[in-house]
Amino acid sequence: MAYISNETINEIRNKTDIVDVVSKYVNLTKKGKNYIGVCPFHDDHSPSMSVSPEKQIYTCFSCGATGNVFTFVADFEKISFVQAVSLLGERVGINISGNIKADTKKDDYFDIYEYASKFYQNSLFTSLGKNAIAYLEGRNIDKETIKKFGIGLSIQKVSLTEYLKNKKYSLEKLIDVGLTNENGNDIFINRIMFPIYDLSGNPVAFSGRIYNTKDTSKYINSKETDKFKKGKILYNYHIAKEHLKKNDTIIIMEGQMDVIRASTVGINNCIATMGTALTKDHKNIIKNMADNIILCFDGDKAGEKATVAAIELLEDTGQNIKVVRLPNNMDPDEYIIKEGKDAFLNQIKFATNLVDYKIELLKQNRDLTDIKDISSYVNSVLKELSSEKDDIVVELNLKKIADNFNIDYDVLKNKYQSLKNNKKILPKEVKPKKVYDKYSMAENRLIYYMLKDEKVINMVENRVGYFPTQSIRELSNEIIYYFHKFGIVPVADFISFIADREELLKTLKDILAMDISENFQIEEIEDYIFVINEYHKEMKIAKLNKEIKEEKDPLKQAKLASEIMKLRGGIRNDIRN
Ligand SMILES: [Zn+2]
Repeated sequence: MAYISNETINEIRNKTDIVDVVSKYVNLTKKGKNYIGVCPFHDDHSPSMSVSPEKQIYTCFSCGATGNVFTFVADFEKISFVQAVSLLGERVGINISGNIKADTKKDDYFDIYEYASKFYQNSLFTSLGKNAIAYLEGRNIDKETIKKFGIGLSIQKVSLTEYLKNKKYSLEKLIDVGLTNENGNDIFINRIMFPIYDLSGNPVAFSGRIYNTKDTSKYINSKETDKFKKGKILYNYHIAKEHLKKNDTIIIMEGQMDVIRASTVGINNCIATMGTALTKDHKNIIKNMADNIILCFDGDKAGEKATVAAIELLEDTGQNIKVVRLPNNMDPDEYIIKEGKDAFLNQIKFATNLVDYKIELLKQNRDLTDIKDISSYVNSVLKELSSEKDDIVVELNLKKIADNFNIDYDVLKNKYQSLKNNKKILPKEVKPKKVYDKYSMAENRLIYYMLKDEKVINMVENRVGYFPTQSIRELSNEIIYYFHKFGIVPVADFISFIADREELLKTLKDILAMDISENFQIEEIEDYIFVINEYHKEMKIAKLNKEIKEEKDPLKQAKLASEIMKLRGGIRNDIRN
């Protein structure tokens, strides 16, 4: 590591429990001595990731993601290893930001947005902000909420740009990060400013709302940058995540005002898509947040479309999805203002089950007094029910249809049953297991057990001449070096040690993700060492064998054969006879 000593990295890691940290991102369940959860690094449907409190590492048995607490945070937050060390250092009171300046200096983005956000917040509480405050208070956004969401105010044409230029940021940089336009003026003028935070809670963009003018666009948003991509950010994620442990239900809304409004009545487990359709990246974030999802989009037609699209996207996450459709085209913000907190809480409490919602949707564009439409409706419902796992839900719905349309229950039940039986049972996706030759197998296992037991380190150091694979060779050398330096090789610390050597780290990760038994016998290690040491001999023999095949002269062939025999360490019986 270029800027932080290994001792400091290890100290931070020792003070950090991987289970604590990972469970901030992923719901973990205890299973035996490990914890399991849904892997955030691939499109995981069943918990494939295991976190070991003993080894302080995580491993996904599906995609092979593995590492220690630093690599987890780095990969999840999409930050560098050093930044992850710094972030986790802060958590345990070890400040290393001084040491990593050189590494992060390249990017002023976060600093600029932090300054801008503070600047807007201060402006709101100056005399220039009187009308804006009055407007917010008129909409029941009190000072506490203003603070909580960092709401601010943009004022004259160049005020923020001047302010940031005085902080020594160049005009080009300000244009680049999306706060200043090509003419050198502020992008946001006279708007109430809502900072948009990334998943870690850093402001990375703004949404500006008009309050005292009749501008054509009610909201304008920052342009997308490498730090601000709507498709990868969920408004209020960092706050909602903190509230989720108790609650375990995430409410997804469309706009940031909906989320802010919900918070004013004490509902903090809401996130917003900020008007874009949910993306696969959103899905990967959401599936790790909670077991239950409530989709609470705007009550209008567009909101319904968004709901249907969200269901299609999220249906296979294994989470329990419910739907709230607000009446009279209202969005959650309007609904809470008009109908109040209790009415909204009731909407949430009595959110519609996914099946019921889908069945309700099937009624659309059908005339349910017309026999043909009834038939197609009932058939569609049965089809829907045939993929429902909950028998009681199925039963209730079958009875309901039988009653409503005066259809014989048994007829429905039979049809449902045959649809269910016909549902193709899809074979479980089987990942082809990588085939390792005996050498790679011996190499991988030796490395694996070196990290488990120092006896193996000694055996390898003293008895293995040369590993055939270069990255294994280097890895083995590093383990031996680390062992001599520190006396022990905790795998979680060793990962930090080689974190800046991509190839080595990848090799190690591959080995850790292999299905290798925790326990070993010394004889087994002896075998592996034997196999490795045989490697060069075998290579030579293979080469000679090839030569024999190509050789036409029987005498020369015999000579080659005797060389092979010598290498094999004696004349084999079958040849002697
Ligand atoms: Zn995975």
